[in-house]
Amino acid sequence: MQAKQNAEQANLAKSNFLATMSHEIRTPLNAIIGMTGLARATKDIARKDYCLAKIEGASVHLLRLINDILDMSKIEADKFELSCTEFDFRKMLDQVIDVLAFRLDEKKQRLVVKVDEHIPSRIVSDEQRFSQVITNLLSNATKFTPHEGLITIEARKCAEIEGGCTLEIQVSDTGIGISPEQQARVFNSFEQVDSSISRKYGGTGLGLAISKKIVEMMHGHIRVESTLGQGASFIFTIQVKRGSAVGPTGEGPVEHTKSMETQKDPAPCFSRYRMLLVEDIDLNREIVSSVLEPTRLAIDEAENGKIAYERFIADPEAYDVILMDIHMPEMDGYEATRRIRAFDHPRSKAIPIIAMTANVFREDLERCRQAGMNSHLGKPFNVDELLATLGRYLK
Ligand code: ATP
Ligand code: MG
Repeated sequence: MQAKQNAEQANLAKSNFLATMSHEIRTPLNAIIGMTGLARATKDIARKDYCLAKIEGASVHLLRLINDILDMSKIEADKFELSCTEFDFRKMLDQVIDVLAFRLDEKKQRLVVKVDEHIPSRIVSDEQRFSQVITNLLSNATKFTPHEGLITIEARKCAEIEGGCTLEIQVSDTGIGISPEQQARVFNSFEQVDSSISRKYGGTGLGLAISKKIVEMMHGHIRVESTLGQGASFIFTIQVKRGSAVGPTGEGPVEHTKSMETQKDPAPCFSRYRMLLVEDIDLNREIVSSVLEPTRLAIDEAENGKIAYERFIADPEAYDVILMDIHMPEMDGYEATRRIRAFDHPRSKAIPIIAMTANVFREDLERCRQAGMNSHLGKPFNVDELLATLGRYLK
């Protein structure tokens, strides 16, 4: 009886989740489709710009949603993993805040940031996951706090451990708060305090469930303190290793996509090089080519792995780099790479092959490496990342 009841409960949560989800996916998609129509219909450049900005915003939102769903399904399948690197904690925090700044502005909320000076400047942890937790908490804080409210984020070092320390991060707001009964449930997957919340504020109820999982994988815990109507505090701890003290600040891979307005460096010049672009989707080839146009890189295109392989063996000296999609008809990127690497010519081993893939889970990256690829770019790719990666191989 108990098992049946549990199963029914889980089923209900999932159906509710699906209903919310379909709404959540449709909302940004409607914006994208609608704004595209408006943009096409007008001759006014300023209005086109306005539509494009809305399309960009909705796309970023949709991407985040899809990443959340993928994370959640990884968690359910027990395939969620961390990948740790050394980075600058304060800089990471700045980047997170930068990304959320426009929403704080929109609601005229004040954000106070306090960082304990005892926190080492360079730490070793999973930077992307760590910032994901902070992003989730801060975006909840802005979402559930009315205009002109106050939000505080505080980071403290609370204990030394071998080779590192435990950090405690607290995000507090002056918003609607959460009742005691509901506090117990907010960390469950697919759950929101009540369904009217999702209608009023949007969201899928995954943010805190994912955050909890990440925090636990980092040997920490997360809890909430709140008085209904007066605001909420989310507090989590995680264990991090101390980075090398002399690490050059500002170095190391910065993979953040600072949203919207990053000032553009002049495009690098790749006019002496030729790239083979392997990708089956026309539109994706067009995007890569247009984005790279200012670099004056010569680009040949191949629609699948088989054509790419044939192009390569016809003239192995012709190319300086290959940008390779993974999922393609006829022959996929892994197989094409293996064949190119196995071909009997000195260039076969030497030519840099960069994977372009929407699958950025660790086992996919491992597969790329095993097939003989040098590097990878996530899809949808970030322009700066594309230029930086190409720049590493073209010099
Ligand atoms: P998303 O998946 O987009 O993050 P969400 O914000 O609704 O959606 P969670 O972040 O998991 O989902 O939060 C779950 C629920 O907990 C929220 O729907 C809200 O009811 C409640 N909640 C979370 N943070 C706060 C907060 N700072 N103040 C009040 N309620 C909150
Ligand atoms: Mg949330």
